Amino acid sequence: MNIYRTYRPRTFAEVAGQEHIKRTLQNEIATGTLVHAYIFSGPRAVGKTTTARLVTRAINCLSRNEGDSEPCNACDACMGILGNKTLDVIEIDAASHTGVDNVRENIISAARVGRAGLMWKVFIIDEVHMLSTSAFSALLKILEEPPSNVLFILATTELHKVPATVVSRCQRFDFKKIPPDAMRARLEHICSLEKKKVDASVLDAIVRLSGGCQRDAESLLDQVLSLDENHIDMEKATRVLPIGSLELVKKFVSSVIGKDAKEALHALDSAIENGIDVGVLCADIVEFLRTALLIKAGAKDLIAESDHEIQERDALCAPVSEAEILALLEYLLAAQRDMRYASLSQLPLEIAIAKMCGVLPQTS
Ligand SMILES: [Zn+2]
Repeated sequence: MNIYRTYRPRTFAEVAGQEHIKRTLQNEIATGTLVHAYIFSGPRAVGKTTTARLVTRAINCLSRNEGDSEPCNACDACMGILGNKTLDVIEIDAASHTGVDNVRENIISAARVGRAGLMWKVFIIDEVHMLSTSAFSALLKILEEPPSNVLFILATTELHKVPATVVSRCQRFDFKKIPPDAMRARLEHICSLEKKKVDASVLDAIVRLSGGCQRDAESLLDQVLSLDENHIDMEKATRVLPIGSLELVKKFVSSVIGKDAKEALHALDSAIENGIDVGVLCADIVEFLRTALLIKAGAKDLIAESDHEIQERDALCAPVSEAEILALLEYLLAAQRDMRYASLSQLPLEIAIAKMCGVLPQTS
């Protein structure tokens, strides 16, 4: 199964994140105040093309009432667009059509030809920054004198490579990476539609691994669901996802906080046995404690983790103070420095464990 395709959002409400952009576009659709050209910029896989297709359906939908902004996805126009059966919606991947002739052929002449049945003819040009200079000037010409009922939606991951003359002719929207909670909510929704139970810790791990890219998150979820189990916990998920290290990091941190040097050394040993590089493990522990410090300082907004994961970290580090976390970080940073010269790569981390378990005040 391909989750990304199966569950591609069909309404604005289903799109994860991009709240400000959705609100503005929906308002323009509802009030009939769309401009004739848009440029969507931002990182890959955060919903630019999906949003472009949504706009395309919404403005052509035959069942949409005035004042509404969602497409019905059932009328002839919506179905024709969803099934790629209309000549009025032209999607061009500029990464594969860089020549000026292609743009002339595909855009200039097609834009001048009347519509084939839909209310709006729409050109979606993906990766528009890949167009050649001469292709851009051809595009600019048509943006300067747009035929009526023709809409251009340009999308790019590299806005700085698009000529300012083109950008200035468009309404510009800057798409952002998907916030962890919006992404997690979307993943939970998909799991419920698939009638699968996936543990919260697994979803957190997927959110973290995706780096804010919805498509990446959904393809990771795809791999997890392909395990063909009704209940997927962390242990099962680690068969397909590279998420073993976080569990070890948590175990490591909780044993250090509990001043249990023996358990911390075992966590280190099983990391090495699982082929996790000691330097990577150490960096992950540092990152973990860094987020714990940010949480304690009240700067949760700087952490790209879901609320659930933040709560878990907060609870795990509750017994120690900010000053104590700082002390732990100092030992770990020293271990990172020493690793470069150590004959035995895990030795500096082992020394750090001994020191860390000694630094915290004894609890009764
Ligand atoms: Zn419709």
